[in-house]
Amino acid sequence: MEAILYENCRMSLHQATMRLSTIRERLRIGGLFGQKLPRHPEPAGRDRGAELCALLAAPPFGITDLSDAALPLYDRALTHRSYANGGEYPAAAVEDNERLEFLGNYVLDFIIADHLYDAYDLPPGEMNRRLQVTRNTKLANIVLEQGLGIDSAIRRKGLALTDSIIADAFEALIGAIFLDRGLDVAREVVLAIFEDEIAECDTRRNYRGRLQEYVAQQDLGNLAYDYRQTGPGNCPVWAARVTVGGVPLGKGEARTKQGGGDARGKRGARPPRGGVRCNRSGGTRPSPSSGAGGYGRDEVDAAVSRAIDLIGGMGRFVAPKELVLLKPNLLQGQEPERCVTTHPAVVAAVARLLVGHGCQVVIGDSPGAGIVYNETNLRRAYARAGYTAVAEETSVVLNYDTGYQTVSYPEGAVMKQFSIITPAVAADAIVVVSKAKTHMWTRMTGAAKNLFGLIPGLEKPVFHFRFQDEYAFGRMLVDLNECMKPRLQVMDAVMAMEGDGPQAGSPRKVGVILAGSDPAAVDTVLAQLIGMDPLEIGTIRSAAARGLIDPAAVRTVGDDPADLAVPDFKKPSTYTGGGAGPWRRVVLAVTQRFGKTYAPRPGVVGEACIGCGKCERICPVHAVTVTESRATIDLSRCIRCYCCHEICTEHAIALSRGLTGRLLARLLG
Ligand code: SF4
Ligand code: SF4
Repeated sequence: MEAILYENCRMSLHQATMRLSTIRERLRIGGLFGQKLPRHPEPAGRDRGAELCALLAAPPFGITDLSDAALPLYDRALTHRSYANGGEYPAAAVEDNERLEFLGNYVLDFIIADHLYDAYDLPPGEMNRRLQVTRNTKLANIVLEQGLGIDSAIRRKGLALTDSIIADAFEALIGAIFLDRGLDVAREVVLAIFEDEIAECDTRRNYRGRLQEYVAQQDLGNLAYDYRQTGPGNCPVWAARVTVGGVPLGKGEARTKQGGGDARGKRGARPPRGGVRCNRSGGTRPSPSSGAGGYGRDEVDAAVSRAIDLIGGMGRFVAPKELVLLKPNLLQGQEPERCVTTHPAVVAAVARLLVGHGCQVVIGDSPGAGIVYNETNLRRAYARAGYTAVAEETSVVLNYDTGYQTVSYPEGAVMKQFSIITPAVAADAIVVVSKAKTHMWTRMTGAAKNLFGLIPGLEKPVFHFRFQDEYAFGRMLVDLNECMKPRLQVMDAVMAMEGDGPQAGSPRKVGVILAGSDPAAVDTVLAQLIGMDPLEIGTIRSAAARGLIDPAAVRTVGDDPADLAVPDFKKPSTYTGGGAGPWRRVVLAVTQRFGKTYAPRPGVVGEACIGCGKCERICPVHAVTVTESRATIDLSRCIRCYCCHEICTEHAIALSRGLTGRLLARLLG
């Protein structure tokens, strides 16, 4: 089994990690840690030890297995030099936190800089501005406001507690966590503390600011927040109640005071843009992978795990306690061996990693167009696709909430808002587990098109009606991905579908798990693996036109895609790409855009049709009629979107070309 991952800024992360490792080694040699520990014989007395253990066990640190050997390190981090030099112990016996603070300062800046680079598409000046959250006064405010308990644990002598003392101790503590637990744990802690602060700088994420703006625009009256703190002192929960014109609008809770207000702003009033947590990796440079050949649990787990590790590990994409929507390709639920849906082994592997990371996970999708989005259909689809068993085995939840909400997206190129199924709106993060398949209309379906499943079932045909050109449809899908910004993409290309997908094709082994943060980058590599030109795929072309990706610059890490390519992968019968020559492209453009005569026509295979009516419901132009348990198609109305072909599980819709179409197809090769 092979796996390929796509990643941004791996080199810079690697280089920075190496640099930190060098600093760490130098500090060790210099006596910060290790053999110099005997200089610090006294500090962690029983009470002090208990105090530090309690502090570090609480969120956001979550370090519950503190060893005796590591205790002096943390004790030192919270010891100011005034205590070391003038305390009750001889100065030579107590080491202060200045060297740890030096290290922690760089670790903190590195983690936040890496996060800013990876999660936001910002110019250097703006990234630098946001990095200012680590400056002393701001840092001290954050420590105090979040009730981290550091201020009361700092040992000092004869000095008032200043911002500088608090900030230095905090940085030293981060340095200690880095030395004791490594960079990944330090990153988790830092992002848990700072993520909201950084996001607050983002006007799109500034929920309170947007709510204020909305209330002012609509002249709704006075906007007021009422805050209340609950929970233990070292783990406070802030509840915010917001009123507009004296009328209660709603409540929200968060770990920080600011977050409580944001929670309300995000989930309640929903001003301009839906408030979906955005964490898009901006670049297009991909990265590596690991291997896959069948769907054995160990094999798939190892490939998925390796793939995600190669791009930074799960901690880079989600934080513990976040609510994650795991979004597979459910379509209408088919047996896994038919390769229509994401294989349950891959869904389970990602679910286990998320659960292991401390996330709450819900599996959710809206079945294919033409399927009524209700609990009965969901239950049936989950069972057939094998996800019911996944939920039982991994303790994740299957979504049965069939509600949906309007999510505004004013920045959209072709869509300013979407109807989105509720679990996606409610989630903190979306992780996509897509299936690699051919597609009669969009040529290929993988990462970017997967998100079309966030549109509730019977609303999907409207999009097919509105975006009848596949490239226009691709622009809409890019808007949808940019709006909802899934954080992580994992693609099941172990057994892909070739031929007339996404429903009626044939399984074909590719043997790869792909992972990455950018849907267009992951799709680009899939296209290359199966011998398609990436720029012929509507979503990739649209992303490239917007400057979101340069397919030629997509970089992979892990196994070499050239070794994994399947050049004879069977394309859909509607596919006309792959050839060379400008004349051919011109003819293609004309025929594809204007040529109903060229495009294959759908026709009903009479004896196979059971009259279920799904094709009638899905057809965006009402070209299908089912009478006496048999479907018929009015070709004069048909726009060749092939939704009926996609939805028919009986393989009762066949596609064929007329004489002119056949001649053109032969001409075009
Ligand atoms: S063609 Fe397929 S989807 Fe349409 S009614 Fe017949 S069996 Fe159902
Ligand atoms: S009949 Fe034509 S327009 Fe209607 S769903 Fe089928 S391909 Fe699309």
